[in-house]
Amino acid sequence: MSNSPHSLYGAVEAGGTKFVCALGEPGGRLVAEASFATTTPDETLARVADFFVEARVRHGAVAAVGIGSFGPVHVRRGAPQYGRIARTPKPGWEGVDILGEISRGACAPAAIDTDVNVALLGEARHGAGAGCDDVVYVTVGTGIGAGLMANGRIVYGFAHPEVGHMHVPKLAEDAAFAGVCAFHGDRCIEGLASGPALRERWGTGAENLPPEHHGWTLQARYLAALCVNLLVTCAPRRIILGGGVMMQAHLFARVRMSLCELLNGYLDFAAYGIGLDELVVPARLGGRAGVVGALELARDFATAG
Ligand code: ADP
Ligand code: ZN
Repeated sequence: MSNSPHSLYGAVEAGGTKFVCALGEPGGRLVAEASFATTTPDETLARVADFFVEARVRHGAVAAVGIGSFGPVHVRRGAPQYGRIARTPKPGWEGVDILGEISRGACAPAAIDTDVNVALLGEARHGAGAGCDDVVYVTVGTGIGAGLMANGRIVYGFAHPEVGHMHVPKLAEDAAFAGVCAFHGDRCIEGLASGPALRERWGTGAENLPPEHHGWTLQARYLAALCVNLLVTCAPRRIILGGGVMMQAHLFARVRMSLCELLNGYLDFAAYGIGLDELVVPARLGGRAGVVGALELARDFATAG
């Protein structure tokens, strides 16, 4: 057993296909980590509990656990459903008290937020948003999602925001595309610009489209529309774009250029000392954002209650 003077916190990245558990110091080293496939709730949450039992034996008590969860999940603290998975087609998971199960398994208090809000916490404090209090983190992958931070706090309304379903104008040259959102077809950004939208439109995965493919011009334009809407609504100093599709590094310059075109001189960034290169930036923590953010969530919860 270690006698570390620092408190150890737990992190759980609860993904639709894989769970990652970790133990460590926020912003610092991890002392244990494990990952396994997401199966049934019983089996998966038992593996989480096993991880923390072993972690406790080796490293001592866990101060608190932070969970970044796949959605939909109830994340408003104090709400009767807080910590439960909401209506989902994922077999067996609807209504599961993922927060309570993990907290009991770890013998520690636990807090939960969406995977994207937790990644936002990680990137805002230790990644591409470090030093900024007003940050948006967007993931462009299988779906599109975003977490908003204003004055250092994550923004919620009656539920967490659903930025992926923001409606954006469709481009005339894209008229033939029906979109892929099950709810909105081609009317929302997820329907037009998620990884599956690119696959549906071009007949191959986005990772196979060469940088000179015309599809990237459209993609940049759609992502720029998303950025305009975020800017005029929240005025973030930084918009971090992550997720599989943003592995295409050439997209960033194109998004910035389209953003300037769409704004057409509106918003005087220079007056606020904001350069476009620092406004729209790639994620820095990559696959680590979830664990890094979950440790932050755990510490926030333990220290603020
Ligand atoms: P998820 O959203 O499922 O958590 P990702 O963020 O990795 O996972 O997103 C997966 C999507 O990203 C897929 O639609 C895939 O086609 C796309 N993708 C993955 N790698 C790349 C790449 N290098 N370039 C462009 N698109 C990519
Ligand atoms: Zn939609």
